[in-house]
Amino acid sequence: MTNIQLYNTKARTKQLFEPIDPENVRMYVCGPTVYDFAHIGNARPVVVFDVLFRLLKLIYGSENVTYARNITDIDDRIMAKAVDEGVSIRSISNRYAKVYAEDMAILGALDPSLAPRATEHLPEMIKMMKTLIDKGNAYEAEGHVMFHVRSMENYGALSRHSRDELIAGARVDVAPFKKDPADFVLWKPSSEDQVGWGSPWGKGRPGWHLECSCMIEKHLGKTIDIHAGGQDLIFPHHENEIAQSECAHGETFVNYWMHNGYLTVNGEKMSKSLGNFHTVHDLVTKFPGEALRLSLLTAHYRQPIDFSLESVAEQKRRLDRWYRITADVKAASSVPLQLIEALSDDLNTPKAISALDALATQETAAELKAGAQFVGLLMQDSDSWFQEGAADSVAADEIEALINNRIEARASKDFAESDRIRDRLEELGVILEDGPSGTTWRRAN
Ligand SMILES: [Zn+2]
Repeated sequence: MTNIQLYNTKARTKQLFEPIDPENVRMYVCGPTVYDFAHIGNARPVVVFDVLFRLLKLIYGSENVTYARNITDIDDRIMAKAVDEGVSIRSISNRYAKVYAEDMAILGALDPSLAPRATEHLPEMIKMMKTLIDKGNAYEAEGHVMFHVRSMENYGALSRHSRDELIAGARVDVAPFKKDPADFVLWKPSSEDQVGWGSPWGKGRPGWHLECSCMIEKHLGKTIDIHAGGQDLIFPHHENEIAQSECAHGETFVNYWMHNGYLTVNGEKMSKSLGNFHTVHDLVTKFPGEALRLSLLTAHYRQPIDFSLESVAEQKRRLDRWYRITADVKAASSVPLQLIEALSDDLNTPKAISALDALATQETAAELKAGAQFVGLLMQDSDSWFQEGAADSVAADEIEALINNRIEARASKDFAESDRIRDRLEELGVILEDGPSGTTWRRAN
């Protein structure tokens, strides 16, 4: 059996992966809060940990791996949107959960084994809060239930923050009912007209950290093998999940913690005001899902990745080459060993892509296809790939260049040129939308 090495954030080192039970390997990734479209940064953990899911299934057997990715459907941003639109929170969360599932499928991510929702776990949350109160790790105050950070000796171990520093450094303008400024919310009260659930502490709603702890316990158990997410979740989200679960159960919560690095766009933090904000929902109308998937795998998952439309176009060309070489492959081949070895070394996807490039010859086309399909690429037949490619024969980077020229023309008040470019784009079947955060485009159908 191939050995898998994984970098464990808790140990700050690569370790040999040894599941608690090889016939029941359990992994959890924090899923989306469904109040809006996911952006490309949100897609990174989905794609990289999908590769891990595939690798675990290959090594341990499909039926022996359970992957849970939750849906956070209780959140103040969902509540605010529901009030704005005059609809229920369920109608908001169902809408965005559906789009999320569709968009992630276009990116080639397999469905997780389970997608539990917070709204279906209120009894479990109430039970865990009662346990934490009984054990002296939590307290009730003014309709809230708070976790008492001082009650846990090794609080801060994952993020390597010292508990005392956290208590001293927490913001001073804190709610007066907190015993310590660093104490965090397990439950907060809902007003008469707000969404809420009944509890021994009155009508209210759970904190986000509590949702994950309870869904993990219910579906995967008290101790699980792998918990993953973006590195921005290390503190406070994952630290607080550990505090809740370990204090409630008196057992280790997670054996291997994995975190992916940040994603920037054209070298900058993505933001709506910079006009470099890309939702997955929008990107999949411009590029094949496989080109987006491959571009997210070009950097090692722990490294930062700089996303750009040029890089997606480049990966599209790489896929064109691979599709051309594998066009006539009929016989199935097994997954090439060098690919499995690269991925088993802490998901070294850049090395895996190099291995696939090295197989991009007529003689090894069958291996290229098998290896690429293992990581969720070359899933179409070549004919349909190139047919779809022909339909959008003008590459997205060329369109972006035209749009930039138009912006420059407008800035220098050359309106004739700006109109000419708009007409040219229209001929190409591109519809421009000028908005407060810049110009976006889509292809006319
Ligand atoms: Zn979580």
